[in-house]
Amino acid sequence: MKQDVYQQLHLRHLEAAVPQVVQTAQREQWTYETFLQRALAAELEGRDQQAMARRLKAARIPAKKTLDGFEFTFQPTLSERRLRELADLSFVRTCTNLVFLGPPGTGKTHLSLALADRALTAGYAVLFTTLADLARTLESASHPGLGRQRLRRYIAPALLVIDVVGYTRLTQEQAHQFFELVAARYEHGSIILTSNTSFAGWGSLLGGDEVLATPLLDRLLHHAEVISVNGRSYRMKERQTDRSSPDAQREVVLNPTDAQATGVL
Ligand code: ADP
Ligand code: MG
Repeated sequence: MKQDVYQQLHLRHLEAAVPQVVQTAQREQWTYETFLQRALAAELEGRDQQAMARRLKAARIPAKKTLDGFEFTFQPTLSERRLRELADLSFVRTCTNLVFLGPPGTGKTHLSLALADRALTAGYAVLFTTLADLARTLESASHPGLGRQRLRRYIAPALLVIDVVGYTRLTQEQAHQFFELVAARYEHGSIILTSNTSFAGWGSLLGGDEVLATPLLDRLLHHAEVISVNGRSYRMKERQTDRSSPDAQREVVLNPTDAQATGVL
């Protein structure tokens, strides 16, 4: 009978918490009112935790990164104060975009993930993707209905992180779909975008379509903050300070000059 009440009211967390709450209530001699409040609070807390776990799963965050785990002293041109201000998430509330621009290894993805983590904790729906994955997913839709459905998946979250790893050059069709996404999110939701490519190079990034680059950048940058990260590569630092670490051995990293020479920037 008791089970039914919990189940009928969908109070799964309360049901699990009751023995503990009752024990504490007896020990601390709570009033009936305090007991009721604490018991219901246990249900709410369980629901919050479950919702957070769901948001985290849906966000497809590849690694947990935090601002506290970022060595600001290593990137002296970057304003720690500004990043800490951004962590208050007013950019998400005002649908402002953030663009982290700079060479590889300077922490652009790290900072994006740290802000995404803050947004998730604050209860926002977040989605992390790379530009390459985004382009592939939208392009592989076998019919227009599925394409629209997939596009909605990227439009819906309050914060979309588009990590431009891999220096993907989009096909013209992919570039149009990317434009459609940026246009749909314009003034509706924030985008955090990371890029190694200065805006002048976006024409060739977008399948050589210079005509598309202008309106796309217009929408992306109208309400946006561009944060340049122009320091040294942290990956190179780790290689230099600890050549025996497995990470250092695994990573093959171009320095910005090599990258420019080979045309990937
Ligand atoms: P980018 O996206 O600019 O290529 P990443 O954010 O992927 O660079 O950084 C590469 C690696 O170095 C990641 O593991 C990241 O956590 C770490 N990293 C980069 N910059 C810093 C920093 N200033 N402090 C701590 N870790 C850093
Ligand atoms: Mg990156």
